[in-house]
Amino acid sequence: MLRLAVGAGEIIIDRNRITNTLQQECPYCGTCGCTYSCDQSTFEESEDQTQRIQFNAAIDGLESLLLALSQTMDVSTPEFVSAIDTALGAIADNYGEL
Ligand SMILES: [Zn+2]
Repeated sequence: MLRLAVGAGEIIIDRNRITNTLQQECPYCGTCGCTYSCDQSTFEESEDQTQRIQFNAAIDGLESLLLALSQTMDVSTPEFVSAIDTALGAIADNYGEL
């Protein structure tokens, strides 16, 4: 298992599975993947709530790339972790705070 401390959280790679503590939870049901489709949601469109969905989607994309790269190369080097931090910074700039 590989744990990468990046941004304000971490990305965990365990063989062919990747998870993170970076994505933001739905304020109603507490699930990161929820797009306000849960029964508890009283979602009314606002920039903050839409940003959470976009932020989480961007993290999903980063995770997919990282998981693919981790199958054939060492993604735990300081240079690689620094590059991930840079990408996270760009995601935060575009889609919200980390
Ligand atoms: Zn929800």
